[in-house]
Amino acid sequence: MKDQAPKLPDRVAVVVVGGGIIGVSAAYFLAKRGVPVLLLEKGRLAGEQSSRNWGFVRQQGRDPAELPTIIESLRIWRGLEAEIGESVGFKQAGVLYLAESEETEHRFATWLDLARQYQLDTRMLSAEEARAALPETTGRWRSALTTPSDARAEPSMAVPALARAARRLGADIREGCAVRGLDLAGGQVAGVLTEAGRVACDTVLVAAGAWSGVFCARHGIPLPQLKVRGSVFRTGPAPLITDRAVWSMEVAFRRRADGGYTVAHGGVTDHPVTPATFRYMRRFWPSFRAERKRLQIRLDRRFWDELTMPRRWAMDRESPFESVRTLDPAPNGKVLAQARANLVRLFPQLKDITIAEQWAGMIDVTPDAVPVIGPVAQRPGLYVATGFSGHGFGIGPGAGKLAADLASGSPTTVDPSPFRLERFA
Ligand SMILES: Cc1cc2nc3c(=O)[nH]c(=O)nc-3n(C[C@H](O)[C@H](O)[C@H](O)COP(=O)(O)OP(=O)(O)OC[C@H]3O[C@@H](n4cnc5c(N)ncnc54)[C@H](O)[C@@H]3O)c2cc1C
Repeated sequence: MKDQAPKLPDRVAVVVVGGGIIGVSAAYFLAKRGVPVLLLEKGRLAGEQSSRNWGFVRQQGRDPAELPTIIESLRIWRGLEAEIGESVGFKQAGVLYLAESEETEHRFATWLDLARQYQLDTRMLSAEEARAALPETTGRWRSALTTPSDARAEPSMAVPALARAARRLGADIREGCAVRGLDLAGGQVAGVLTEAGRVACDTVLVAAGAWSGVFCARHGIPLPQLKVRGSVFRTGPAPLITDRAVWSMEVAFRRRADGGYTVAHGGVTDHPVTPATFRYMRRFWPSFRAERKRLQIRLDRRFWDELTMPRRWAMDRESPFESVRTLDPAPNGKVLAQARANLVRLFPQLKDITIAEQWAGMIDVTPDAVPVIGPVAQRPGLYVATGFSGHGFGIGPGAGKLAADLASGSPTTVDPSPFRLERFA
């Protein structure tokens, strides 16, 4: 692909590394400000997490550090289709979380207090109200938490549409071009070194998802990041149960624009053990403990793949980013079979659903499950926006705008301090 692509520019103001929802949103907002921006994606736009996610656009259940940014993000989502003149499958139909245990119910009640502080429309539903929201269900829940102003969007549509809009505003967006690393002069960013040559710039924004830790480590910047694997399937067209995006420990699902559902297990994700697991064990221990019921720890070939992945490489040689153009893990078939069985048991109307496609995505997580957005103090000119810990799709436009504001030295709409990298120092 790179052989036919036009030559890269010699110089731009900002280079964005990574074409997921974060990088593309940042490029869009930079271009909107008139900042010359080049986005480089090693594979294809949204080829990794940003097209593989559930599509929940939710405020509900978030860490307080993220609330101002997700509120801003929802504001952007609401106006996005009108602004860019294309559909992103956005629908503000609410989310519904179902409590099967006292412990979950307690967590919901605690979050409701937080929602009130931010004047969100979140409500607790009784067992009867929860059942009434899900006609014909055989499920019995203690209660539910719902936020009607939450929404959903189509991951497969959102990033390509936003990228087209960014291009119309002048952003230069390339696929099939990996950034191997930074070109530094006196410790400061002077450009990027890519597989297609050097591009000079004063500012680089790393929005490389699950690869951000590898990228930063190459330049001696510690960014604690681990990966978990989420498996998902989509159905063919099926009867409508609810327009809300639904989560329970047994199954999570949301209605798709094509009349089917995107479905996953609500209570299981896999953590493939890698050398980074041991490197960051102490930092991640509290989240391992908190998530122990939902996390399946696995030892598979990823350990070997990452053990043999170079941590340092010469900039004129192939980098790890070129060896894996698109991170495409195999889905966990057992977990998906359980999710399907749970869905059909809870909603007999769906007994005839067919699985049209199944896939998995590698989710990049930080120790506190809050992203890192901001400058890297020890490398002037370098910014990161990464570590969205399984909930970066909904917050993507807001977080991308925040990253764009920071990288262009513009005033920010929200306080960026909860996201600074130095909190892990
Ligand atoms: C199964 C699953 C379900 C999820 N459900 C939800 C949900 O319902 N709601 C929600 O809000 N979030 C959800 N998420 C999380 C969400 O998808 C991510 O947080 C978000 O997409 C992260 O976006 P990103 O741009 O940071 O990373 P990515 O989408 O992973 O993009 C990073 C890009 O950078 C590129 N790249 C990396 N290194 C380089 C390099 N050196 N040079 C050039 N390019 C490079 C990669 O190829 C990749 O395309 C889910 C994720 C998964 C996997």
